[in-house]
Amino acid sequence: MPRKSFLGLILLFIIALATSGIALADGETPPARDAKQPIDEAYTAKIRKYTTAPYFSSPLVDYLPASKTVPTPEAVLGDVAGAPGILPYAEDVYKYMRLLEKATPRVKVVSIGTTEEGREMIAVAVSSEANLKNLEQNRQRLAKLADPRTIHLDDTEADKLVAESVPVYYITGTIHSPETGAPTALMELAYRLAVDESPYIREIRDGVITLITPVVEVDGRDRMVDLYKWHLAHPKDFYPPLIYWGKYVAHDNNRDAMGMTLKLTQNVLNTFLNWNAQVLHDLHESVPYLYDNTVGDGPYNAWVDPILVDEWQMIGARNVADMTRFGMPGVFTHGDFDTWSPGYLMFLGAMHNGISRLYETFGNGGADTRERTLQPDEYARTWFKPNPPFPKALWSQRNNNNYEETGLLTSLHYFNENKRLFLKNFYLKGKRSIQKPSAEGPAAYVLPADDPRASVQADLLRIMFKQHVEISRATSAFQVALPVKKEKKSAKPADADEKPKPAAPTSRDFPAGSYVIRMDQPYSRVADALLDYQYWSPEDPQTTPYDDTGWTLGEFFGVQVARVTDSKVLSVPMERVTELRPFGGVKGDGAIFAIDNHAEPALASLRYRLKDATIDAAEESFDASGHKFSRGTFLIHGVSRSDLDAAAKALGLQVVALTAVPGVKSHPVRAPRIAYVHTWISTQSEGWWRLAFDNLQIPYDYMSTQALAKIPDLNAKYDVILFPPVTGNANSNLIVQGTPTSWGNPLPWMNTPETPNLVGKNDSTPDMRPGLGWDGLAMLQSFVRNGGVLLTALDTSQFAINTGMANGVSFTNSEKMKIVGSIVGTRLVDAASPIAYGYDEKVSAYCDNGPIFSVTNIIGSRRRHLGPTMTSRPTGRGTKDDPDFVVGRPASEIPDEPEKELWEAPQPTDEQRFNNPRVIPPASRARVILRYADSKDLLISGLVENGSDIAQRPAVLDVPSGTGHVVLFSINPVYRGETENTYSLVLNTLLNFDSLNVGRKDADQK
Ligand SMILES: [Zn+2]
Repeated sequence: MPRKSFLGLILLFIIALATSGIALADGETPPARDAKQPIDEAYTAKIRKYTTAPYFSSPLVDYLPASKTVPTPEAVLGDVAGAPGILPYAEDVYKYMRLLEKATPRVKVVSIGTTEEGREMIAVAVSSEANLKNLEQNRQRLAKLADPRTIHLDDTEADKLVAESVPVYYITGTIHSPETGAPTALMELAYRLAVDESPYIREIRDGVITLITPVVEVDGRDRMVDLYKWHLAHPKDFYPPLIYWGKYVAHDNNRDAMGMTLKLTQNVLNTFLNWNAQVLHDLHESVPYLYDNTVGDGPYNAWVDPILVDEWQMIGARNVADMTRFGMPGVFTHGDFDTWSPGYLMFLGAMHNGISRLYETFGNGGADTRERTLQPDEYARTWFKPNPPFPKALWSQRNNNNYEETGLLTSLHYFNENKRLFLKNFYLKGKRSIQKPSAEGPAAYVLPADDPRASVQADLLRIMFKQHVEISRATSAFQVALPVKKEKKSAKPADADEKPKPAAPTSRDFPAGSYVIRMDQPYSRVADALLDYQYWSPEDPQTTPYDDTGWTLGEFFGVQVARVTDSKVLSVPMERVTELRPFGGVKGDGAIFAIDNHAEPALASLRYRLKDATIDAAEESFDASGHKFSRGTFLIHGVSRSDLDAAAKALGLQVVALTAVPGVKSHPVRAPRIAYVHTWISTQSEGWWRLAFDNLQIPYDYMSTQALAKIPDLNAKYDVILFPPVTGNANSNLIVQGTPTSWGNPLPWMNTPETPNLVGKNDSTPDMRPGLGWDGLAMLQSFVRNGGVLLTALDTSQFAINTGMANGVSFTNSEKMKIVGSIVGTRLVDAASPIAYGYDEKVSAYCDNGPIFSVTNIIGSRRRHLGPTMTSRPTGRGTKDDPDFVVGRPASEIPDEPEKELWEAPQPTDEQRFNNPRVIPPASRARVILRYADSKDLLISGLVENGSDIAQRPAVLDVPSGTGHVVLFSINPVYRGETENTYSLVLNTLLNFDSLNVGRKDADQK
């Protein structure tokens, strides 16, 4: 075919031009092909064809070396990587990787686990034949560097290992399913690394093991490919948005690196650590054209080793430099992203002594070639972006693949050139983690054996296990010295009235069996980062935190975590714990069983598990069999001791058998029938709730707002309708009306021949557009009026208020308040409410600029004064506290203003009550269960700025409506698998759905 070879000649010429333009430093390997190795001309021609302009490519990727034995991606794709119209399923990507494995000894494929829906995840190792042959020996060497205790922190021994070891660079693709380019880029990258004989690539192959997980979110990938195929089959129609990615969460799958709740996070971390990899490089697509956000912007996470920060800067700067020299526009490494939160997948690397990296490249959300128009801030030239992207450009998936591969290849090459440095750093970061107790501290974290919330403590420890943190248990009681806090010197002289503060304790005792997380271990860093407190200054130059600012897991779980600086703790006798033994079960004798209530979510699991048992909740605290039981204690009968014992063991609950029924008022705890409602707007936030419910094995009917609207008698089928938050601020109108149906086409979320994977274990609809609808809203309202319970949070609470379902409650959002994913203090207002069972007065909760609730006792009124509030007496006779007079008439009695807190509704005045049908009768008034703490106590962890706007306001409200209830949350009680402390506020509402009025105060009744 003369035409083809003519084209090939031109290509060679162009390539020669492209590479000859780059000046090389002394000894530098040219980033160019090996002239002696033939290229795959047809493939190369297509690369050129699909690249929309020559400067969107590089001399590393604008050709493909030919091989007689190794198949190119075309073998599976039917076209080249990045070709328009082609997105492979994960299965096809795996098929290709396994073809490579069969064709060359330079590729090895391993299975690394499965997803929630049972799909396989893989890792592909590409390196020289010799390196892959010696994998195990190399792994053992790297393992010693990863745990310097094995070589007694001996630097000389480390140097020897560094000299002999081949480092591992781990690349992960398409965790975010609409970011579609990585799998084809990584297929082609694997081919190049295995086949290309150019010195540049050969050096990488001989010097580094490149490990690739081409698809991280496998469930979401297959759905995304389905949607793209649907789009190709219906090119003129709108195609459905990707409402579900994984089984549970969407974009937040990249926020799971703390809670480790998702399989993909666990599988990637296990792989990273099993291979003792040095780098974890995660590929994303959202920013033109390649933003290596590794360097990003401050503030940096306070727990990472400064050595890592230097590594970010070295690799990032070189990455930009290399690609800039290739003439590729729009490559930069500073920009909008702070490196504070350790929730991102890549941060597993940062927290485990490796190097975390993240690319944002420019994807088209599919494989169409499109004209892309950027925002001014995207194409603006700045100090960190001297070569910005074009305001407008024709953009293809191939361009995206070119950028991804070029970035990775230059990174790999630079990493290889400096691998001794990076391997030594890997060792040093591990060594410094082990030396933490004698360096910055602390010495250990201790979780006391007598924590009343044992099952929650166990869940927190299980996260530590998933993070590969070593846990020990003290075999005897011990004492540690507490750090002496420096007293702040008061500016004013001490007030004579001020009581002298009691002396701070100087030591703390822990019982035998307490858990000790020693900081002299290689992964102490991650334990420290997750258990410590965070402080983000309101004065920080970074005014837009990228994600959560606080995450202290002890607070989020509501369990005691002591940060111990006394290094004596390390010599306490202790044994390593490799699994958490069951510690629940029945103790004592008797036929009635009691479980003290400490707001453990496992109580709800128990209720559902023991379907036939009778369970009552004590409405007051009581003493029995030498135990003090708190309000909400479960009283159980009608179940055999052995069944209860087995269930309690499995759930980690401690049961006390009593000889007699305690004489305390109680009510039945029933397992409600739950309708769990989602929208077709977003499933992101509700996904975390669903995951928590599934883990607790609490059954529910999962349905959309559309489906709810079609159920004729909701009360006949359900006791509780759970409407978790939609996302950010899905407004009420959108929830009711949905997406317009008066134009456009139906957006089906169904399995069809083009979309066989769309409906996983979730929901389906022929058209995603309709919302709850006005009829559905009316049915929801009548469900509540007729005795049902509707539980809402954040935007769904706003929806309940806006649609008149929460009489006497209004909300505002503050412009100046900044609580960005922080842990805040809340206080119990009404401990007698069943919603509060098991909680102490202070409750730590997750808040992200939650709605600011106000309650009133008059419908349609807001608690607002006209004019300034009078806070002191007016000018007149007498001293400050004397009554004033008016000359020439009797003294008038000033009526007492009832004292009222900010979270309470003002009592209607006589004037307001007069002939006013809008005054809410006491029994129908909102009941404040939990309020935000006072301003000074609001911040527990993270950022709180202008918190006075929400301080003392209601955080959880129980609003009667007809014979039912609407329960509103301003905090998010169920979030990212991290907030177990507040789960029971939701679960208590469920279990006491028909007794929520228990304990309403007399004061409310008048
Ligand atoms: Zn992303």
